[in-house]
Amino acid sequence: MDIPSLAARLVGWMAVPENNSLGPGLDLPAFDAPLVGCAPGDDPLFDFLKRDIGPGFYWTPVEAFAHAFPGTEAVSTDLSVVSWVLPQTEHTRRAHARTGDMPSIEWSRARHYGEKVNEALRRFVVELFAEEGVEACAPALLPLWTRAESPKYGFASTWSERHTAHVCGLGTFGLSDGLITPRGKAIRVGSVVVRARLTPTPRTYTDHHEWCLFFAGGKCRACMKRCPAGAISEKGHDKVKCKTYIRSITAPYVEERQLGFRVNSCGLCQVRVPCEHRNPTARREG
Ligand code: SF4
Ligand code: SF4
Repeated sequence: MDIPSLAARLVGWMAVPENNSLGPGLDLPAFDAPLVGCAPGDDPLFDFLKRDIGPGFYWTPVEAFAHAFPGTEAVSTDLSVVSWVLPQTEHTRRAHARTGDMPSIEWSRARHYGEKVNEALRRFVVELFAEEGVEACAPALLPLWTRAESPKYGFASTWSERHTAHVCGLGTFGLSDGLITPRGKAIRVGSVVVRARLTPTPRTYTDHHEWCLFFAGGKCRACMKRCPAGAISEKGHDKVKCKTYIRSITAPYVEERQLGFRVNSCGLCQVRVPCEHRNPTARREG
């Protein structure tokens, strides 16, 4: 299966309301149609990520694949990585833009029920390849996937969906650490590793911060001003401040005032900013 055909299958799956719902009983989609990208399993950036994030725990594609298929003979040149971006809907973004220090209920639903959509989409893509007799796995769904402590970056995990999307040509990082994609930063991401050589998506950037206005010209800082926790500065994203705010302020708020259970919902830095739903360094059409 080539990437355009695969992308069409993902778009079709997401167009089915039962697959893509913002929550039980709601006639609203969790996300807009996905963007899809691809990188070869031996892309040097995957080795760089392992060295940079955590040589002792971070997975390359061939390591993730070996966890899914123990005893496999696969080598990195046999593999490809397929990544996708799920853009938040305008309905969710608008609701979230109206809020101050607390997440909107729409955003909290997208964080909780939307991630269930993303999990199901991972399984769907793995099954699509399996139907063609091609082995595939979703690293984030593997039992061995876990959170870890990066010597350089603090909170991390064995497989980062955002970094994978960056390698797969889907965007660059902003001052807030979010991935700015052609559909902006208000997104969720997912990926699978597949034993097939698929045509890679060209990376149209040379720097990992290229699409952020702050790094492109020293201006903007809108995400800094929007963060109620003071977790974003010109030095970047303070993961400890961010996590503390979410765990102690917004997650209890979601439980008490919104959904009746805790959700790590915030993402205020992802809306009411120039990179919310587009690459702000791209020339506007028309
Ligand atoms: S809001 Fe501005 S400074 Fe922050 S990530 Fe987006 S473009 Fe960069
Ligand atoms: S997720 Fe919330 S707390 Fe964390 S950086 Fe963004 S706005 Fe700040």
